[in-house]
Amino acid sequence: MPDSQPRAIIHVDMDAFYASVEQLDHPEYRDRALIVGGLGPRGVVSAASYPARALGVHSAMPTGQARRLAPGAVFLKPRMARYREVSQQVFGIFKRYTPLVEGLSLDEAFLDVGGSLRLFGSREAIGARIRDDILAETGLAASVGMAHNKFLAKLASDAEKPSGFVSVPPDGVQRFLDPMPIRRLWGIGKRTEPRLRRLGVLTIGQLRRADPAALRDVLGNRTAHFLALARGEDDREVTPVRPDKSISHEITFDRDLVDTRAMRAELLVLSEAVMRRVRKQHLAAKTIHLKVRDARFRTATRSLTLRAPTSQTRGLFQVAAGLLERWLAEHRNTPVRLLGVGVSGFSEAIEPATGAPGLDAAVDAITGRFGDASLVRGLSLERRPRNRR
Ligand SMILES: [Mg+2]
Repeated sequence: MPDSQPRAIIHVDMDAFYASVEQLDHPEYRDRALIVGGLGPRGVVSAASYPARALGVHSAMPTGQARRLAPGAVFLKPRMARYREVSQQVFGIFKRYTPLVEGLSLDEAFLDVGGSLRLFGSREAIGARIRDDILAETGLAASVGMAHNKFLAKLASDAEKPSGFVSVPPDGVQRFLDPMPIRRLWGIGKRTEPRLRRLGVLTIGQLRRADPAALRDVLGNRTAHFLALARGEDDREVTPVRPDKSISHEITFDRDLVDTRAMRAELLVLSEAVMRRVRKQHLAAKTIHLKVRDARFRTATRSLTLRAPTSQTRGLFQVAAGLLERWLAEHRNTPVRLLGVGVSGFSEAIEPATGAPGLDAAVDAITGRFGDASLVRGLSLERRPRNRR
């Protein structure tokens, strides 16, 4: 990266957040298998304590399946208002150390602490203080990852969960990344993984050293993106937002898109990623945003406010696709370099608390586990072949 001064990024992720809050409020449930989720027939697990995870329960799994795996577990309905309250407390702690806090969800955030190093010593010193403050003031455990970019910091916080504390030094990046399975790369999912495996690519290190031309057959328009990640490169900024203000995803393509069907397929994948996070927080959103950057780096944003909030992928996709269509009508034959989809204007989702009926719940169950590139819904199937040139 061109910056001479490396960034100092911390990723904090609360351990089994909803479940841990319940155990905090109900000490009798401590050390037990505890599952927070929708309790109805279409309910989905929102969080599972570590003893429940040891039995194979994970978030986004149908609650019925969790009941079979952990019949003796405590099952509780989510209390989002309480989780938000604790989340605000935790974010308040983050703000003591830097104004640059980017919330990803109620229990997870990136912090850019580059401006606070002189005051507090090192990123590790700040990470340790944050972890200790959270424990002392909320009684909850967090995992902390530290690195010079967001991608590595997030992997680091996850590397030794729960109560993890991992710092990746700039000269230790390959040692940290190379042995990891490719599935750890966000976006390498159930469909992509076996195809890479056939190329002999099982680990991030193997991906890094693989022939880009062969990779392009599998990864299409995202080959450069994944290769950069495999080298541990990520120049995304920490953008201060609160998770309850807006949620968005965007992607920059290796090669500019001109085919409108390929653009729509990308929009669907982005819509899925956004709404999965919305549903996870039991929210529904009223305002939908589209971001388009063309080949000449001109960026346009379009938004539309719905009459009623939605948490459904299809609803977001349809509006985003409509906004894109209008942009395309005004910019005929303009190659597109980046597409982004976002939502804001949140309200609580209407019960059942799981919020994600039918197909959305099923897709959440798959993608929660395998990542978004594994989506198999109709339109996104067109993505890969169309991106190949
Ligand atoms: Mg967490």
